[in-house]
Amino acid sequence: MTGVLALLAVYAATFVLYVALPGRWVDGYVRDETGKPLRYHLNGLLVFAIVIAGYVALAATGTIAWDLFYRERVTTLVTAIVLGLVFTVAIVLPAPPTGRSLGADLYLGRRANPQWGRVDAKMFLYLVGAVMLELNVLSFTAHHVLQFPASTSMVVYAALFSFFLVEYLCFERVHLYTYDFVAERVGFKLGWGCLAFYPFFYCIGAWFAASEPEPARSRGWLVVAILLFFAGWSLARGANLQKFAFKLNPARAKFGPFAQTSLEGRVLVGGFWRLSRHINYLGELLMASGLALAIGHPGAWLYPLYYIGLLVPRQLDDDRRCAEKYGVLWEQYKRTVPYRIIPKIY
Ligand code: NDP
Repeated sequence: MTGVLALLAVYAATFVLYVALPGRWVDGYVRDETGKPLRYHLNGLLVFAIVIAGYVALAATGTIAWDLFYRERVTTLVTAIVLGLVFTVAIVLPAPPTGRSLGADLYLGRRANPQWGRVDAKMFLYLVGAVMLELNVLSFTAHHVLQFPASTSMVVYAALFSFFLVEYLCFERVHLYTYDFVAERVGFKLGWGCLAFYPFFYCIGAWFAASEPEPARSRGWLVVAILLFFAGWSLARGANLQKFAFKLNPARAKFGPFAQTSLEGRVLVGGFWRLSRHINYLGELLMASGLALAIGHPGAWLYPLYYIGLLVPRQLDDDRRCAEKYGVLWEQYKRTVPYRIIPKIY
């Protein structure tokens, strides 16, 4: 029962704080049927900081165990799975069908961008997923460190993962310009994905490593892991920020040291976007590989492998979408930038 209550408390607290705390209103990239940009109330970083501070305060005062979410991992996972299923049914069934089968509607969703006042379904889902993932990472790491105090692998892993999540919330606005907001609806894939899959699968390496001694290897591996992670971060964040700056102002001449070259002010062909058509996906893969390398357990490689399964079809789908949207310009872009994800390879 403790695990059920713990998960429900985290999700409820995140929701209440998301609704109640101040934030900033911004225009999104998606437009409503009248052509006006959807508005979003952003306060994710503050909500995240308060929930994590709450966990630290409760653990430091002995109210809960530092490794509560490790001890209760199976119960919290099952609770999240059930909650994700209930959410899917509740968000999909009341909405008008899209014309696809019921199964497809349940999986992919019917409503593109559900909003109720300051609550945006997608922003909340990504936020609650990030909060629960951080709690799992910290709690699994605490379990490991309590048994093996001299261990460094999992501490480095937790630090890199925390950076990944905090940094993502610092750039919450940039996320509004991504495929998830433009092309996806809210159903099982996104809803169950954020409530159950994201917070529990992304830290798969920690599930394996939490109760085992760290692998015997030189510290050099950790240095390589950190370098790989930040190389990936530079590519992913650089590309995403460059595209965000371009969408806000297509006439902008430069992005940092890079010329903001584009085809007719619509398709970016300079800077990061000259390297491959989805260099940001390579960045994401390198970050995941850095995390797997840091933890050092073979099972941790399931995480970067999952990214290959996610991002390769997503790139193909996005390419199709863009070919339809941009027509000959996209053909021209493909000739100028022939590689999909990995320069010179793929
Ligand atoms: P992108 O940010 O690359 O967005 C694709 C869209 O950007 C296209 O549909 C098109 O939309 C626009 N676009 C693409 N190329 C160009 C160009 N050359 N010039 C101008 N516009 C262009 O992909 P995602 O939204 O999939 O990913 C965003 C980030 O999120 C990435 O870093 C990705 O790795 C990350 N991500 C992370 C995941 C995770 O679980 N951690 C999961 C999935 C993604 P339009 O023309 O409509 O503007």
